[in-house]
Amino acid sequence: MSTQTNLPTPKSALAIGAHPDDIEFGCGATLAKWAAFDARIHLLICTDGSKGTWDPTADTNELISRRQTEQRQAAIQLGATGEVIFLGAQDGELNHNRAKRSQVSRIIRELRPEVVLGHDPWQRWRLHPDHRAAGWLTIDSVVAARDPHYHREHGLNHHRPTALLLFECEEPNHLETLNKTHLDAKVSALLTHQSQFETTMAIDENDDGSQTVRFRQRILQESYKVGQRVGTAHAEAFRFIDPAS
Ligand SMILES: [Zn+2]
Repeated sequence: MSTQTNLPTPKSALAIGAHPDDIEFGCGATLAKWAAFDARIHLLICTDGSKGTWDPTADTNELISRRQTEQRQAAIQLGATGEVIFLGAQDGELNHNRAKRSQVSRIIRELRPEVVLGHDPWQRWRLHPDHRAAGWLTIDSVVAARDPHYHREHGLNHHRPTALLLFECEEPNHLETLNKTHLDAKVSALLTHQSQFETTMAIDENDDGSQTVRFRQRILQESYKVGQRVGTAHAEAFRFIDPAS
């Protein structure tokens, strides 16, 4: 399978993630790269992130609000100047029904992003149901936003992005090459999600700095491994889908 690299920098992009921090893990450095070239980057978070803790006594309302604040700070670290939208579905309960598709396709029609990015729902062995649901929701909503007879109740013009990029994908066919600055922005954005240090970044409250260094190395090693496929130092991998197909 041939692998293409680097879309032309889009004027705008909408990244859709299941939870706060998913977008940064999946495509944070690519978004930072495009933002540095003045692309307007929008983030859409499908769920409220209310189950994102291992503490059984946690106040989940406090967690929801904390994670929204963290997500907004992460957007700043990426250089994202567009909207940060929270769809507000309950964590763990996301589905891709008609009502949700209407909500997300309306957002696509309003923001009119050149590129849409989201989870790959076909990735095997994927554990979290919200990641699968967010992937299906992204794909279904691109089709619904694209074709004029879907959701005519929106009263909006239809909109077809030029590219759909799926991250954490089963079979990558597209790489975005990255430099240190883009990866630094990705790591800085991830490190704003302090509520997720224990659950997704293996950083505990007693960290003397060494766990944070290891986390940074993990992100750099992942992008290095991806980049080696095309002989470049660092990259993020995607499944490219032509929204006209
Ligand atoms: Zn997630």
